[in-house]
Amino acid sequence: MSTQRLFHRDRDHDSPAAELLIKNAHVLDPGADLDEPHDVLIRDGHIAELGSPGSLTGVGGPDIETIDATGRHLFPGFVDPHVHLRTPGQEYKENLETGTAAAAAGGFCAVIAMPNTEPVVDDAAILRSLTEGARRQARIPVGFLAAITKDLNGHELTEMAELRDAGALGFTDDGKPVVSAGTLRKALQYQRLTGGVIALHEEDPELSRDGVMHEGAVSARLGIAGIPSLSESTMVARDAALAAYENARVHFQHLSCVESIEALNHAKAAGANVSAEVCPHHLTLTHDMVRTLDSRFKMNPPLRTETDRRALVEALKSGLIDCVATDHAPHAAHEKEVPFEQAPMGTTGLETAFAALYTELVIPGEIELATVIERMTAGGALYGLPIPRIAQNEPANLTLVDLDARFEVGADGYASRSGNCCFHGRALQGKVLLTVAAGTVAHVARMLTEAPVAR
Ligand SMILES: [Zn+2]
Ligand SMILES: [Zn+2]
Repeated sequence: MSTQRLFHRDRDHDSPAAELLIKNAHVLDPGADLDEPHDVLIRDGHIAELGSPGSLTGVGGPDIETIDATGRHLFPGFVDPHVHLRTPGQEYKENLETGTAAAAAGGFCAVIAMPNTEPVVDDAAILRSLTEGARRQARIPVGFLAAITKDLNGHELTEMAELRDAGALGFTDDGKPVVSAGTLRKALQYQRLTGGVIALHEEDPELSRDGVMHEGAVSARLGIAGIPSLSESTMVARDAALAAYENARVHFQHLSCVESIEALNHAKAAGANVSAEVCPHHLTLTHDMVRTLDSRFKMNPPLRTETDRRALVEALKSGLIDCVATDHAPHAAHEKEVPFEQAPMGTTGLETAFAALYTELVIPGEIELATVIERMTAGGALYGLPIPRIAQNEPANLTLVDLDARFEVGADGYASRSGNCCFHGRALQGKVLLTVAAGTVAHVARMLTEAPVAR
């Protein structure tokens, strides 16, 4: 499967190609150097025309659906390089349909799914059946990573070349680190031949041990076992050195602490071919939230200190961290509604990512809106996918957002099958009204259908 095809309409589901005139939206696409009101005509799933407000009246024909988007913002669709769709094997948490519906509701036009499923995506047959399943059930294109080691066992490499041929964008044992430096070194040597990015969940189990939150003042006060930051940062430093030595391509997943940023900075400055992602929860929340012992705040890596949070924001601003990833990790209510120490790690994030960053970082002035858009659209490109662009003849991958609309997270229910969101109950600002993904309408908010639609 060509990665370029992922963004084109070749899926089996019955959504027709979008035919839509979006009038007077404030179009913000930093990559296309657009930051002004425009009319956008989408025809046959592509951006057919782009013009100043009023200039496209009548061009779509009398029957074309028209959205008056005055006062609303149109962005290129977001791409999430790190989600858990729990398929195959844990469909009671999420499936291809609900996970991609959640993504579309959050303004994402493509996602990349992790292989730590049951069974693990560690052979080509499983990957092929997943890809076929996505064609039928997914609302938006889904790219897949395959495992680095068989059954995530940490020592036996998968058939990486075969998995690449079957369409794997790259490899990860996410959920677990590759503890053995020798095993990772071998994987990096193969990766030079097969291509595809090696993505790493960095953690030293001997330092994390049975920790369930960040090791610091709050864990000490609560008397709960902590995960020190150096559990992550020492592995980032080790694997950056391995990547540089083997001249391989490595991506660091969900970085959470200032020490990892320093290791990343050092690696990039030395010319290593590394990239990194950061999650909305690590950019906006700290370990202080865990004082409530609400298991929605339990994830791996854990929420850390304000110093860490600020360092992550600065690294995202500067581009040292390349992109935002949600690490959307659904769990059933009965699994999460247990004492904090026993609850599984993970928060959902697809439906809140943009609003959380807009509310907690853009409105207070910590980061520019344009930077958030750039980093939320960049994740797929790290795996070889095109970056969505609002430009003539591009496939329509875009999201229409009302930046003034406030909503309470979870009040209307989630499109995701699970509700374990760390922003649950918060009032956030910035609501996704419409998502067009690979040329088809993937999400329409009730707010938009209730608004007067000119025809
Ligand atoms: Zn992980
Ligand atoms: Zn993950």
